[in-house]
Amino acid sequence: MIDPDKPRKKRIVILGGGFGGVYAAIHLEKLLARVDAVEIFLVSQDNFFLFTPMLHEIAASDLEITNIVNPLRKLLRKVEVLVGEVNEIDLPNKRVLISRGYRNHSQEIDYDHLVIALGSTTNFYDIPGLADLAVPMKSLRDAIQLRAQILRHLEEANFECNSAERQSLLTFVVAGGGFAGVETVAALNDFVRDALPFYPNLGEGMLRVVLVHSGPVILPELGESLGRHTQKVLKGRGV
Ligand SMILES: Cc1cc2nc3c(=O)[nH]c(=O)nc-3n(C[C@H](O)[C@H](O)[C@H](O)COP(=O)(O)OP(=O)(O)OC[C@H]3O[C@@H](n4cnc5c(N)ncnc54)[C@H](O)[C@@H]3O)c2cc1C
Repeated sequence: MIDPDKPRKKRIVILGGGFGGVYAAIHLEKLLARVDAVEIFLVSQDNFFLFTPMLHEIAASDLEITNIVNPLRKLLRKVEVLVGEVNEIDLPNKRVLISRGYRNHSQEIDYDHLVIALGSTTNFYDIPGLADLAVPMKSLRDAIQLRAQILRHLEEANFECNSAERQSLLTFVVAGGGFAGVETVAALNDFVRDALPFYPNLGEGMLRVVLVHSGPVILPELGESLGRHTQKVLKGRGV
């Protein structure tokens, strides 16, 4: 709780509870463990830290949500966590404006030092329709939505008599052959193929899982030979 009437200590405000924000907070907690004249606040939309490298495993039902989220209040003991939306950063006046809670209660927080670790947003490269129709893969909500959408498609396809409609429902396209795209398509492919035997009207031959990549070989970060090997493995699994 920030008491505006109390003389305040030197204040560090960290914006964002992802990798950057949380590790900055953990580091500062250690560094300032014996310093009482400094207070640290961390502002984030969610009250948990999300381990994104395992996000695709939520979408594919390989892991439970609790395996990849960690409560910020448990991770950070000296840092005070403020759950809310950062709306404005007023650099000249060293102040941030946040809104919190169901009623969007707005609050101004003065700071002496500011760490901005608000992450990034998905770039849809202005491709028409993509932002409206595609499921991004960035937040926990996205992964849960993707899993629900895959299952909804299987349910619909199972009673769909029109073969063109059914083909459309059973075609899954993942855009981007980098790490996140490859992990997602592999997990999605396994998930759907494992689920198929439970749908009496569906068969492997009806399924189409596609990975779209702009370059000649996927996983450019790993070099051509590993990229080609991964392509071969994915192809062997039906992607
Ligand atoms: C599916 C997926 C898989 C990945 N796999 C890997 C991997 O295997 N290895 C690897 O090194 N990297 C991986 N990454 C990349 C890695 O997750 C990012 O590089 C890293 O999360 C960036 O950290 P960050 O702190 O800058 O941003 P983020 O982790 O995105 O954190 C930003 C934080 O700010 C909060 N926030 C944003 N806007 C506001 C606002 N207005 N108000 C309040 N809070 C806000 C968010 O809720 C979040 O808590 C992966 C990413 C994804 C999406």
